[in-house]
Amino acid sequence: MKRISILSSLLAAAVFAGGASAQQYPTRNVSMVVPYAAGGPTDTVSRVLGQAMGKPLGQTVIVENRPSAGGILGPEYVKNAKPDGYTILIHHVGMATTPTLYRQLRYNPLTDFEYIGLINEVPMTIVAKPTMPAKDLKEFLAYIKANKDKVTYANAGIGAASHLCGMLFMSAIGTDFLTVPYKGTGPAMNDLLGGQVDFMCDQTTSTTSQIKGGKIKVYGITSTKRVSSLPDVPTLQEQGLKGAEVGIWHGLYAPKGTPKEIVDRLAQSLRVALADAKVIEQFAELGTTPVAEDRATPEALAALLKAEIDKWSPVIKKAGVYAD
Ligand code: ASP
Repeated sequence: MKRISILSSLLAAAVFAGGASAQQYPTRNVSMVVPYAAGGPTDTVSRVLGQAMGKPLGQTVIVENRPSAGGILGPEYVKNAKPDGYTILIHHVGMATTPTLYRQLRYNPLTDFEYIGLINEVPMTIVAKPTMPAKDLKEFLAYIKANKDKVTYANAGIGAASHLCGMLFMSAIGTDFLTVPYKGTGPAMNDLLGGQVDFMCDQTTSTTSQIKGGKIKVYGITSTKRVSSLPDVPTLQEQGLKGAEVGIWHGLYAPKGTPKEIVDRLAQSLRVALADAKVIEQFAELGTTPVAEDRATPEALAALLKAEIDKWSPVIKKAGVYAD
């Protein structure tokens, strides 16, 4: 009897402590883990978003880059972090492709995380080094087919959006080429600008200013409609290339077991950030769209993640690309 009452008061104290800390959350900086190198598209989105989420949270959101090829170390790190809301993950469609691409993935996107919400949708662009001679997609395809043994394609490793796009592009044009993996398309872009690699497919968040500045060549957009920030760039589809349509989305995750009050607070701050005029303007300049308010929710992210796993899994299996 006595033991039971001590146990129950201990339990009550624990519940109270958990509840009290969840109510006070956050009392210090929140770390947003980016699974890719600085300067790339996921990093860019995290910096705009992190700054805006800091206001409703009343604390600074610090961007923490934990880069690796394929972006697989960031989710593992966040999975193993304390589930207290101070370490969260930003990630893209890679959360839906890596479970099929990797035979031994050390996290399960469907069971190891709490979902905070969706962030944005963003198309990709096929871009090439500044000295690429082709002036349009037709000439570019002829060039890479004629030089397929030496042409190099940069990506951020197996599981990256740039990998997915490259895989679809290769299959759409029926030509394989040598891929060069980086820990993010930020460093890949530096090599593209320097001409060390020939081409890549990257999100407009990363390529828009380089395209506008005439620093790189662009041969098409992977969305079915043109992007208002790059109105002169045609889609791949309208130039007759089908099968390489791909749209990237980002979501926010917390380690499994993060208290619901904290997840809700983060989701609420995400919605406030996405409605911030500065975020809307910065996203528009980068060719990306924040999701509607009702999609910046745990339920919407959970549903899209599941749907995207189901969508990409057969495509990847058909392509037969796997990593260990
Ligand atoms: N998200 C990019 C990709 O998947 C990489 C990056 O953010 O640097 O290609």
